[in-house]
Amino acid sequence: MTRLVHHGDALREACERARARGQRVGVVPTMGALHEGHLQLIDGARRAGADFVVVTVFVNPLQFGPEEDLARYPRTLDADLAACRSRDVDLVFAPDANEMYPDGFATEVRVAGSVTEGLEGAHRPGHFHGVTTVVLKLLLLTCPCLAVFGKKDYQQWRVLSAMVRDLSVPVTLHPHPIVREPDGLALSSRNRYLTPDERQRALSLRRGLLAARELFDRGERDSARLVEAAQSPLAEAVDRIDYVALADPLDLCPAPEITGEQALLAIAAHIGTTRLIDNTVLGEPES
Ligand code: AMP
Repeated sequence: MTRLVHHGDALREACERARARGQRVGVVPTMGALHEGHLQLIDGARRAGADFVVVTVFVNPLQFGPEEDLARYPRTLDADLAACRSRDVDLVFAPDANEMYPDGFATEVRVAGSVTEGLEGAHRPGHFHGVTTVVLKLLLLTCPCLAVFGKKDYQQWRVLSAMVRDLSVPVTLHPHPIVREPDGLALSSRNRYLTPDERQRALSLRRGLLAARELFDRGERDSARLVEAAQSPLAEAVDRIDYVALADPLDLCPAPEITGEQALLAIAAHIGTTRLIDNTVLGEPES
């Protein structure tokens, strides 16, 4: 039985009762418009040992810039609830903005340094402060043993790991591999914006990542050549590239030279009115 609650107090009480029963609470924060990627995170929470699974559905205005797609972001709560029921989620928390940020809300949680500065941080000023503020609040309402985040938003996972470490938040974060369509497109709530032609063109992100992986696996360690290989399938296919960049997989410092065994290769590009991101860790087997 999946219960739907809209208020923080109800979420807190339900989680307290679960803990009193001896259950381990696991949380999967989302912005809704759930797809198979989100559902695999839910399964991941169970596998990681959660026996009371909470999914939060909240399109967080704090993490959208003024020019971004907050107004048109898909909101499909009925379908999300049905999807959660199909995966035996225990509780769905779907607050409105006023519940999360009542009048007078004035607190911001910021992670500083390399982990927030590059890649998404450079192109979406303030984005990660919005993410860390909402996620810490969700963690404090839920007090979970574990929380699952997707590596689709690789940098987000690293930023949240830094927050949890720095503030000694008593939760274990479980990163989940990127879930893809059979043709390689990373699942995203934003894919529904794509026209059939744009969807075809969106495959270029994956092609770029695979081209660079192949080069890396053959021994190439020159960053410029790896980035060039990743960029070349994008050239004709996308309308604008925000970045194709290599970074340290842990602290996300830019990697003009690859020194370690692994490097994060991350892409953000615009196709029509849709902004897509994807990534891979070179030197790490794909799961
Ligand atoms: P979102 O609703 O886009 O904020 O995503 C909620 C969570 O689902 C985040 O931890 C995302 O990284 C994760 N997620 C979204 N799409 C995917 C995907 N294709 N594969 C793995 N995780 C994903």
